[in-house]
Amino acid sequence: MSAQKIIITLDGWSSCGKSTLAKALARALGYVFVDSGAMYRAITLFFIRNQVNIADPVAVEKALEAIQLQFIFNPARGASDILLNGENVEALIREMTVASRVSEVAALARVRQFAVQQQQRLGKEKGIVMDGRDIGTVVFPHAELKIFMTADKDIRVQRRLKELQAANPSITADLVRENLEQRDHLDATRSESPLRQAEDARVLDNSNLSPAQQFEIAMAWAQEAIDQANG
Ligand code: C5P
Repeated sequence: MSAQKIIITLDGWSSCGKSTLAKALARALGYVFVDSGAMYRAITLFFIRNQVNIADPVAVEKALEAIQLQFIFNPARGASDILLNGENVEALIREMTVASRVSEVAALARVRQFAVQQQQRLGKEKGIVMDGRDIGTVVFPHAELKIFMTADKDIRVQRRLKELQAANPSITADLVRENLEQRDHLDATRSESPLRQAEDARVLDNSNLSPAQQFEIAMAWAQEAIDQANG
């Protein structure tokens, strides 16, 4: 009999390296990796392009009806790119224009319902690692392994700056810090599924851990959870 697969959730503050770790875990376990933030970012890109008034529920509904999201595996990245109505928007959704608006859009109940439904569908067969803000609390409250990631803010700013500078050399640490603080605040204080640590989550503070060290810790937790599921 093949081993029972599990669901692994990774939630936490912006720019903690959740996606990097989630991707590595998924690869090692032969699981699917889903970056739920990419979905909110792609929805936000659509809203920006179409000047959707987020205060108008009818306009929001109409916009969501016109949005189709898909993931397609990109071997060069070793992860899936997101398609917005067939267009690969993986690079575009990482830009500041999207980052500065995404938390407002993600705070809308209807937008969350739209995204969560698709996320739950992706996890139906288990064998999935999904990162985000509410994955262990709302999307998969019964996940076998929940990880809550955190890291010192200065370290998060430096990491994200390095990442963004590759595409945009004019970006500054102040801009990045402002965006992180704004998103963390909105994400943690919104009324619809705010960012919070699930009671049964294991906390991983990676301020002083290398990617290899984090991976080792998380992989040991995953193995434990898989063994338990196959108990
Ligand atoms: O993970 P990432 O930083 O790409 O997410 C972008 C934004 O999407 C977050 O700041 C948050 O506002 C929203 N998000 C969310 N719930 C998730 C994943 C992301 O609200 N599960």
